[in-house]
Amino acid sequence: MTSFHGKSVLVLGGSRGIGAAIVRRFATDGAKVIFTYLSSPDDAQALAAETGSRALRADSGDRDALIALIASLGPLDVLVVNSGILGAGDPLDMPPDAIDRLFRINIHAPYHAAVAAARNMPDGSRIILIGSANADRMPMTGLAAYSASKAALKGMVKGLARDFGARGITVNVVQPGPTDTDMNPADGPLKDVMHDFMAIKRHATGAEIAGLVAYLAGPEAGIITGAAYNIDGGFAA
Ligand code: NDP
Repeated sequence: MTSFHGKSVLVLGGSRGIGAAIVRRFATDGAKVIFTYLSSPDDAQALAAETGSRALRADSGDRDALIALIASLGPLDVLVVNSGILGAGDPLDMPPDAIDRLFRINIHAPYHAAVAAARNMPDGSRIILIGSANADRMPMTGLAAYSASKAALKGMVKGLARDFGARGITVNVVQPGPTDTDMNPADGPLKDVMHDFMAIKRHATGAEIAGLVAYLAGPEAGIITGAAYNIDGGFAA
């Protein structure tokens, strides 16, 4: 376990699921954690009380508010952009506005948040985006916009790693496979279909994803940048 004592960590989208596991991990490891939420105030307040972290309501789909919020927080040692939405369905039926909002939350927010955070980050800080193994393998229908949004993060971290590398700031994307959350319950109707694509046929836990995030945020990972890490039971293998 790495000590993050004295480190400032911001997790965008931390009230539930993988984000909440990341909040718990950094708080347990001694960091000063701030996280955002949108629609789950009760979960957010309970998690803040449990972990001693601070919950702030902020829509990742609101670009200017997000940039202003990050600027107001002062220097961050670690930024994790976890907020993301799924949006599954027949592309012929999906409203264009819903697709644009998905792209705002899943692509625009990680970019603008990373740049806003980097303005004030100390040298050697960490930016970690939560992507998806669907960036590398999309074996089902109805998820083209989602997989496109997660594939965009692979290119994004390569570019931002170059932009901020001189300051020792690393930028990476963690790509979970099926992970047990409200978005993708381990006992959901598609579980057998998803497990068929996997070498290890079970959903990951949020804590397993948080463990990789903590590694990438820790001192042993200072030379890792511009990289995408699948943590997916072999879903994309
Ligand atoms: P959940 O739907 O269970 O939780 C999503 C979290 O993101 C919630 O805390 C939610 O907050 C927050 N969030 C969503 N939209 C916004 C927004 N506009 N502004 C601020 N916060 C927001 O999802 P998961 O935990 O499963 O997923 C987390 C990330 O991992 C996502 O990026 C997802 O794409 C990715 N992922 C998940 C996989 C899985 O199998 N679960 C697989 C691969 C990738 P609130 O409820 O307060 O709105």
